[in-house]
Amino acid sequence: MEDIYEQEAKLKRENCGRTIEVLDSGFVRLVDFLGNDTSIVQAARVSFNKGSKGEEKDKELLRYLMRHRHTSPLEMVEFKFHFKLPIFVARQIIRHRTANVNEQSSRYSKLNNGSYVPNHIRVQDKFNKQGSSGHAENEEEIIGIIEAGQNSAFADYDNMLAMGAAKEMARVNLPVSAYTQWYWKMDLHNLFHFLGLRLHPHAQWETREYAKAVFELIKPIVPVACEAFEDYRLNSCTFSAKEMKALKLLLSTGGKWDWVADQAGLEGLERKEFFDKIK
Ligand SMILES: Cc1cc2nc3c(=O)[nH]c(=O)nc-3n(C[C@H](O)[C@H](O)[C@H](O)COP(=O)(O)OP(=O)(O)OC[C@H]3O[C@@H](n4cnc5c(N)ncnc54)[C@H](O)[C@@H]3O)c2cc1C
Repeated sequence: MEDIYEQEAKLKRENCGRTIEVLDSGFVRLVDFLGNDTSIVQAARVSFNKGSKGEEKDKELLRYLMRHRHTSPLEMVEFKFHFKLPIFVARQIIRHRTANVNEQSSRYSKLNNGSYVPNHIRVQDKFNKQGSSGHAENEEEIIGIIEAGQNSAFADYDNMLAMGAAKEMARVNLPVSAYTQWYWKMDLHNLFHFLGLRLHPHAQWETREYAKAVFELIKPIVPVACEAFEDYRLNSCTFSAKEMKALKLLLSTGGKWDWVADQAGLEGLERKEFFDKIK
């Protein structure tokens, strides 16, 4: 047991306070954590009243848990982060309701974290209606418009404060690019759910940058769990009943993709998604 406490103390010395810079002036800092790979295995083995069985067996068990979605042992590990992030990114991340959050109050203190100015401007994606990709031809000009709007909004904010408006009133015209800060705590089961959604290419690039930083910060603490997450969740995919039918036909008959998709009743977007998975 003492070994586990020593292991955790060493990991804390090495990792608490680690900070990764994100976007132009944001960051994610690991403030604290509870548990590591060993605590997951220990929790799982309590079912059989046993602890660690050595590195190899422990790794096997952890990968088994992840593969079969036996997730409650992952909830024994928790991470607390300090984020500095634009409000529009915070609006996306706050949707993950399993986090415990404490955010800076712009009613109580003056907002002086600056604001996010992108260094590239993506254009609307042709396929993913919510998404963006590439570069706008006139991105310099667009970045100039963003900066001018922010400067004007923050100058108005200062003016309104000087004229006697309360902080909660003066802030009403501030842009969603303004940086805010929060403490954000989540257990590993929910964190993997968050990372699965926000590391996905469909997530907004800016939000993905925060998810990447979170993932990098937890890797040294739960390396085996992170590897299993990458193998069985992040870089894996699932097949529907129709897709399984098409795959079986593909393997047993060697038929053409279009033919097996027809036989399995895969049409439209579902058909495209199936081809994307197996190509
Ligand atoms: C690429 C992308 C695009 C998105 N686009 C939009 C959009 O256009 N508009 C929009 O509004 N949102 C959008 N979202 C947000 C999305 O709908 C979810 O709100 C967000 O991803 C959080 O997911 P979650 O609810 O699974 O996570 P969490 O809130 O962390 O919950 C984790 C899990 O806990 C369970 N749970 C938590 N709370 C409840 C509850 N009250 N009732 C039942 N089960 C619960 C669920 O199983 C849930 O999956 C988008 C998300 C992504 C990743």
